[in-house]
Amino acid sequence: MTRPQSGLYNTALRVVSGVLLNMFLRRKTRQVIVGGVPIGGDAPVSIQSMTSTYTYDIDATVRQIRQLAEAGCDLVRVAVPERRDTQALPAILDQSPVPVIADVHFHYERALEAVEAGVHKIRLNPGNIKDRKEVDRVIAACRERRIPIRVGVNEGGVVERKDKNTRAAQKSELAKDYRAEMVRLMVQTLEDYLRVFEENDFHDVVLSAKSIDATMVVEAYRAVSERFDLPLHLGLTHAGPPETGRIRSIAALGSLLSMGIGDTIRISYAADPIHEVQDAKELLCSLGLRNRVEPELIACPTCGRIEIDLIKLVAEVRRKLAAIKTPVKVAVMGCVVNGPGEAEGADVAVFAGKGRGIIYVQGEQKRTVTESEMLDALYEEAVAFAERVERGQARLSHTRVTIAPPDPLPRKDGSIPLPLAAR
Ligand code: SF4
Repeated sequence: MTRPQSGLYNTALRVVSGVLLNMFLRRKTRQVIVGGVPIGGDAPVSIQSMTSTYTYDIDATVRQIRQLAEAGCDLVRVAVPERRDTQALPAILDQSPVPVIADVHFHYERALEAVEAGVHKIRLNPGNIKDRKEVDRVIAACRERRIPIRVGVNEGGVVERKDKNTRAAQKSELAKDYRAEMVRLMVQTLEDYLRVFEENDFHDVVLSAKSIDATMVVEAYRAVSERFDLPLHLGLTHAGPPETGRIRSIAALGSLLSMGIGDTIRISYAADPIHEVQDAKELLCSLGLRNRVEPELIACPTCGRIEIDLIKLVAEVRRKLAAIKTPVKVAVMGCVVNGPGEAEGADVAVFAGKGRGIIYVQGEQKRTVTESEMLDALYEEAVAFAERVERGQARLSHTRVTIAPPDPLPRKDGSIPLPLAAR
């Protein structure tokens, strides 16, 4: 399970992660199968989320799992703190469209019950299930059912809590260089815990090393990736609400994925978990690690040239495009002055000006519509184009589409603005 530890090897990994940032050479990891979904090896990076319901509330949990799966989630984790939660698992598993993972803390019995119920993966925390005999029993149960285990350490869980002397020594080391020492502690905790798995000859293991700090997450996963060849589950803990957690999560996970590190991801927010899946999908699509299956909307940021309420229009276009199931690229631009240059590559685009907008389909000027017609007309063109793609009569923009600027729309006072290039 451990990687060779030569300096050359680590230097090579750093070169790959640092210099070849955009090539996304995925680090080779073992592969485990979770309810039919491969994680690691050459499998695509999968998306996970976690229900926020009480698992014993079967209907609510199944409803949320279905919503998450519908949004693009590949695997869903559920908390099983009590016996009544694991008792609910058979009914949940019967109705779940995706593999289900049981999140186990403190009580190893919950892991055994979840395995018995047929769950597809177990998550154990070395910080709170430490007894060797208990871990052995969970491993034996998982081996019998061929169920992988995620061993997940968190920044908050690796400092010793019971043994005062060990805790004092750890704290004194942490005081010297908190980040480096914490990363070392996380890796050490994984090494110690994985020894039990190795002694049991059990290798269907996924690892995680989470923190609330984005830079520490990057450092921790780099260190874990250099040390082990097991597939990695990326994530931050307690990232906060989407407004701030999104930046923190994307900064850390985007960096790691760009280095080729990460086999499955969970973005976690203090919000409806549907946002986690939507953002994880956008992250993977943006990095080219997942193919889009839905429309992609690009829009100008607006500026002093804007003459319509573009932000409202963009929100309405986004809502309407959700009905299209083809990855059409749609651009909503605020003017014809330099919007065309910025919208190059869009399949369908509108350039809005005072009172009217010009619609393009793959670089061809299609029609000019009034402001009140703009939303419906753009949507109609997007639907028509998507249907042509589905019938094989048109191709999505694999190559860049050049959009020649139309004649500028007149200003409020009737004057015609010059294109920027001509100023
Ligand atoms: S497209 Fe036009 S309105 Fe939008 S940001 Fe660019 S120049 Fe400004």
